[in-house]
Amino acid sequence: MPRNTSLTSSSGSVQLLAFFGGTFDPIHYGHLKPVAGLAKIAGFDQVILLPNNVPPHRPQPEASAQQRLEMVELAVAADPLFSVDPRELTVDTPSYTIETLATLRKEHGDDCPLAFIIGQDSLLTLHKWHRWESLLDFCHLVVMARPGYKEQLDTPELQNWYDAHRVTGAEKLKQKPCGFIYQANTPLLDISATEIRERRHAGLDCSDLLPAAVEHYIESQGLYRQ
Ligand code: ATP
Repeated sequence: MPRNTSLTSSSGSVQLLAFFGGTFDPIHYGHLKPVAGLAKIAGFDQVILLPNNVPPHRPQPEASAQQRLEMVELAVAADPLFSVDPRELTVDTPSYTIETLATLRKEHGDDCPLAFIIGQDSLLTLHKWHRWESLLDFCHLVVMARPGYKEQLDTPELQNWYDAHRVTGAEKLKQKPCGFIYQANTPLLDISATEIRERRHAGLDCSDLLPAAVEHYIESQGLYRQ
């Protein structure tokens, strides 16, 4: 049954919900800080984090699904901008992003603007995603800059699709429910979950890379040990 999210806030402005998927093994400031900056630029009312279920044929996260979910919940517990949606972790089969977005669109109704956030590295490989050309039927795509990743897209097909849908003003995102790509000038943070796992394996400190609550959780669970 569609939830038909109210389109306007109490101040009368159109509401914009943003979804942010990731493996989050673990979640870190490279996820949180650019997204918080983006929320201000783009006027997101809520950012909903969607931890991924990783398909069995891909390298498995070091932390379990439950541990990744708990880290995400700890990371955003004090910030009302964020909430966490565990739907992809509560089914045994990995979900394709397009399927999750189709379900979210049904739940929120046809008119509510929805955005899906990805980093520049994900944009570069988007043409490998299942039914990638249909993503914009359900949401806008909002791309965060990421240090070390080029802007030029790999295939002419992806580049043409990107050029055809790209808008330069964030205000466009509230003008229709889906269909635009917005490249945001977010703060650049050269942090990856890989670096955090590697630092932990080497017995090095990571406190500058992720929230203290997540670091304490990692410690207490004995995650990413040497
Ligand atoms: P790993 O190093 O394990 O591959 P990761 O740090 O890239 O992990 P993911 O959970 O795979 O983190 O990323 C989820 C989303 O966040 C992706 O769309 C990715 O592009 C984006 N992202 C991750 N780190 C950054 C960053 N430092 N700046 C901008 N976007 C980022």
